[in-house]
Amino acid sequence: MIFANFILKTVIEMIFALVYISKYNSEVDILKKFLSSILCLCIVFSLCSCSLFDNSIAKHNSEDFLVHFIDVGQGDCILLESEDDFVLIDAGESEYGATVCQYLLDNKVKSIDYVIATHPHSDHCGGLTEVIETFPCENFITVETDQQSKIWLNVLYAVNNENVNYIDAQVGDTYSFGNASFEIMGPYSKIYDNYNDYSVIVKATYKSNSFLFTGDSEKAVESEMLENGADLKADVLKVSHHGSATSSSIDFLDAVSPSYSVITCGMYNDYGHPHRETTDHLNHKGIITYRTDIMGTVVAVSNGNDIQFFYENEEDVPSPTRFDTSKLSYVGNKNTKKFHLSTCDGATSMSSKNKVNFKNREQAIDNGYSPCKTCNP
Ligand SMILES: [Zn+2]
Ligand SMILES: [Zn+2]
Repeated sequence: MIFANFILKTVIEMIFALVYISKYNSEVDILKKFLSSILCLCIVFSLCSCSLFDNSIAKHNSEDFLVHFIDVGQGDCILLESEDDFVLIDAGESEYGATVCQYLLDNKVKSIDYVIATHPHSDHCGGLTEVIETFPCENFITVETDQQSKIWLNVLYAVNNENVNYIDAQVGDTYSFGNASFEIMGPYSKIYDNYNDYSVIVKATYKSNSFLFTGDSEKAVESEMLENGADLKADVLKVSHHGSATSSSIDFLDAVSPSYSVITCGMYNDYGHPHRETTDHLNHKGIITYRTDIMGTVVAVSNGNDIQFFYENEEDVPSPTRFDTSKLSYVGNKNTKKFHLSTCDGATSMSSKNKVNFKNREQAIDNGYSPCKTCNP
């Protein structure tokens, strides 16, 4: 794209020069025509070099609700967009600050209504300093912790310096932007052992579609929300903690019961995210999963009833499909009285004399079998 613009600029300059010269020499007319043709080709080339990804998102209806899961490697950065109002949840590591700012500029963000720092880990809050210093931001929402890292203090300094209104996240508080709104769903407690559990959990709603953003919250907070009877049901789940097995318990996934999930993580990251246990659970539940490590930036477009997904690497990565749960079978072990999904190692390695097949999990439980703790059938 940059190369095409460079050629375009050069050709325009050459034509101006030739127009000037041609006043004195008519023999350059043929050359003028030739260069004009190149100019036309360059314009066409410049227009075509916009990616398919950009074009498909650009076609959305102005009333649509957009959720951009911006690829910041191993980290979170999510932009919510409704009627030219914007909410930014996290901004990746500090070195992604400029990338995030450029993405916001490319998407015509002029100011941000709510900046949410889920928790003070650098892969979530690092890039926020540059965003807050670059764009006018009205409100900043977070949960107070005792974190004193330089990266986090820089964020708080920017909030203070730019006169951004500081809001302490409280469960049940709701905020509206454009035609959409969001509610704070967690955390409930004020003190945790782990900074991940302080993550501000947000559920955004547009007409009958909803999205749940969980930061890096782990199973303790999931249980807390379940115990408090929180309405966790959502169409799209931002899978917590980059798909780590420390989050996304079966009970939590059952309560959210999403049709789609998005995992935000970096390719070949040091933590092995997403963990196999999490992706297996998502697959077994028939949840369609998008991943920023493989697909690049993922954008969900909601018209209030249906949600369409677009992603950066559409030309290279096939679109994910729903896992057919009807093809799953359940296998019990007569010896251990445990039952497994047919894909579990516990089932494939079982000796055939111990095997008993069940049509569904209910039948296994009715026969006195208990679910395997590895595959959670
Ligand atoms: Zn994280
Ligand atoms: Zn974290």
